[in-house]
Amino acid sequence: MIKGSQSERRIFQDAIALGQLQKKCFSKRGIYKNSEAFYRSLSRVCFIPKIAGRRYTGEDLLELSLGQKEIAEEMFLSIDGQDPEAWLDELFRIGELAICPICNRIYQSYMVPECPLCRK
Ligand SMILES: [Zn+2]
Repeated sequence: MIKGSQSERRIFQDAIALGQLQKKCFSKRGIYKNSEAFYRSLSRVCFIPKIAGRRYTGEDLLELSLGQKEIAEEMFLSIDGQDPEAWLDELFRIGELAICPICNRIYQSYMVPECPLCRK
């Protein structure tokens, strides 16, 4: 085991001991996902993609989603070990999501010819 990952593990253990992170929210692969934190408080850490990864709060996910809660929720539920930025890039690339050039919002673009948000 490399030295770096050992000290990171230590940081996580300290955070668990301090009650900042919940042990039960770690998956076997070292991904941290806390849905209680995500749904209850934007300022709490709800997602860590890998043991050495960045800690994301609900606010971070919401910011990446341009403030759109439904996109942030989809992101939170779908991400699994990759960075949220990479998840978002991938969905833009395959055409599941798109940013509307008119209203600058993200919409589910799969089989959708135009932005459904503008029509509301
Ligand atoms: Zn639009």
